[in-house]
Amino acid sequence: MGEHESALDAHASQGFSTRAIHAGYSPDPLTGAVNVPIYASSTFAQDGVGGLRGGFEYARTGNPTRQALEANAASIEGGRHGRAFASGMAATDALLRATLRPGDHLVIPDDAYGGTFRLIDKVFSQWGVEHTPAPVGDLDAIRAAIRPTTKLLWLETPTNPLLTIGDIAASAELAHDAGARLVVDNTFASPYLQQPLSLGADVVLHSSTKYMGGHSDVVGGLLVTDDEQLDSDIAFIQNGSGGVPGPFDAYLTMRGIKTLGVRMERHCDNAEAVVDLLSSRPEISSILYPGLPEHPAHEVAARQMRRFGGMISVRMAGGPEAAQRLCARTEIFTLAESLGGIESLIEHPGAMTHASTAGSMLEVPDDLVRLSVGIEDEADLLADLVQALDGV
Ligand SMILES: *Cc1c(COP(=O)(O)O)cnc(C)c1O
Repeated sequence: MGEHESALDAHASQGFSTRAIHAGYSPDPLTGAVNVPIYASSTFAQDGVGGLRGGFEYARTGNPTRQALEANAASIEGGRHGRAFASGMAATDALLRATLRPGDHLVIPDDAYGGTFRLIDKVFSQWGVEHTPAPVGDLDAIRAAIRPTTKLLWLETPTNPLLTIGDIAASAELAHDAGARLVVDNTFASPYLQQPLSLGADVVLHSSTKYMGGHSDVVGGLLVTDDEQLDSDIAFIQNGSGGVPGPFDAYLTMRGIKTLGVRMERHCDNAEAVVDLLSSRPEISSILYPGLPEHPAHEVAARQMRRFGGMISVRMAGGPEAAQRLCARTEIFTLAESLGGIESLIEHPGAMTHASTAGSMLEVPDDLVRLSVGIEDEADLLADLVQALDGV
């Protein structure tokens, strides 16, 4: 763990991409391997009872490949402690269990990621944890939802799939005034575009399946915090419940993170071009993108984000049928769930990623289409959308 700390210190003053490429690992003294080895070992030899060589004893508790990813993730989020999980939901589950007890309450976005809502509403409620959905963009509504038992304020910004924006600094103040913690699900922005800890958040959550991994080839989750006690509570659950990634998954995620900066720039460039194109099309009744000046929280987004990301949602003038037809007609934009990879994806949240919110307060409009704009050539993406819209 000593090495883990010094790796962070050495990179603290460096730029984002330098840290993304180097933090958490330096060439192996034995072989000089430039990339972190995939330590496919579940157990580690001891020099005499309790004589651990690198601080490792059993790979649920710690594995060198995972530790490199954890230190790297902490560095790029500007935090001191990172913990890696088998999925974003495993990270969410660990955080909820590390911070909440029966009788506690949390406030969650009324358009939270469907799986987050489902876990809180269907599982944690059975253990006496209460929740109130509130719109992330409405500080008065959040304030009104807070109770004396509120321990956690959950913020997703931008939200999935409606691309609403929450004010991180103002939400942190609200949470802290109430004696609660602020968690920010930073999956949509990635630490390249937005760093919640620097704005007062207590803990940042990622589905690293998305932009962090970036190649749609690995599922994972991350938690980063500066709070020593919170990190130790998270580590207790991480080891105690065991929702950890294997070393190959940790390696793939770390490999993805190295190019996060260049990928995000290109995702943003392409998304801006797509927004321009869609603005001129009569088939689209509205575009949800925080980079548009008419977005209700554009100014907040501009204050807390470097650029506005690669996710765009649109509502179709022709209703749900037009939405489903558009999803079926694109060729480069692949019809699939998930987001944040190098390839462009399209989906219908109401019938796909957010089907579990049907009938609840979090139900999404059925004329909504979500685009995850990839890093292919801009002209090809625009041509694909034009041919698809022409037939809608
Ligand atoms: C995908 C996603 C999650 C869940 O992560 P998994 O890796 O799929 O378990 C949580 N939050 C957001 C915003 C997501 O997009």
